[in-house]
Amino acid sequence: GHPAGLDTGRQDELGDLARSIGKLSKDLDRMKNERNAFLASVAHELRTPMTYIQGYADLAMKPGISGEAREKYSAIIREEAHHLSKLVGQLFELARLDQNDFAVRLSPVKLSALADSVLSLVRPAFEEKGVQLLCNIPERLVVRLDATRFQQVLLNLLDNALKHTPAGKQVHLQATVLKDTVKVEVADEGEGIPEDELSTVFDRFYRVDKSRSRKSGGTGLGLAIVKEIIEAHGGQIEARRRPAGGTVMTILLDKGGDDGTHSSGG
Ligand code: ADP
Repeated sequence: GHPAGLDTGRQDELGDLARSIGKLSKDLDRMKNERNAFLASVAHELRTPMTYIQGYADLAMKPGISGEAREKYSAIIREEAHHLSKLVGQLFELARLDQNDFAVRLSPVKLSALADSVLSLVRPAFEEKGVQLLCNIPERLVVRLDATRFQQVLLNLLDNALKHTPAGKQVHLQATVLKDTVKVEVADEGEGIPEDELSTVFDRFYRVDKSRSRKSGGTGLGLAIVKEIIEAHGGQIEARRRPAGGTVMTILLDKGGDDGTHSSGG
């Protein structure tokens, strides 16, 4: 027997347990820190438009102010209120996507038809800016996905591509099939994302150029939402720089054959 008490197998088990507990408690700390950082960002992001709204409302109500100035201030107030409401909408969206029981509803979808409906939504904006919009999706390609959610993803990526691409250049939406995987890409000819920020652009509130993004109404939540939706599909998304300049957003999805839904990992 083992007069000294625990045998070595038992000691190993206890050691493993202690290490697991140590790791769990570190994970918990990290999660708490992340949550705190997120809440602080939310508060900060909400405060900025609120400050503008309060400040300009005070100015607009000053006695003797000209009609012209009042109109200018009202326009700013409206813009900031719009930004606030977009922010709150996206926060709700993230909260929903983050719920453990959130699941995408997968069904076979003809990708070219889905793309057509998104393209018809964004085409006017592309035409207005003078950016060419090209689409190349195999006519009969069927993918199992959540149509509404995936439309939202394409809308967001095309919107970003348009925002960052100068007039006279092109944005290309394409899909290719590699065995059981479908690759969907949105490629633009814009300024591109700096190499060291290619993965951080998917973080909540991350913006490459804060002040510029604010002016164009950006919240820094769009790509975070896109990533959550793709991951809820069991897929992946990544950003790359094009050698010739510009960005490619690449989505990899299981073509689908298995039924049921994917639950988001959280
Ligand atoms: P925003 O609401 O600010 O656009 P996103 O989450 O959609 O937030 O994007 C995060 C940041 O990634 C943006 O601020 C922008 O700087 C950068 N970005 C996204 N798409 C592109 C693109 N196609 N080309 C260059 N930069 C991009």
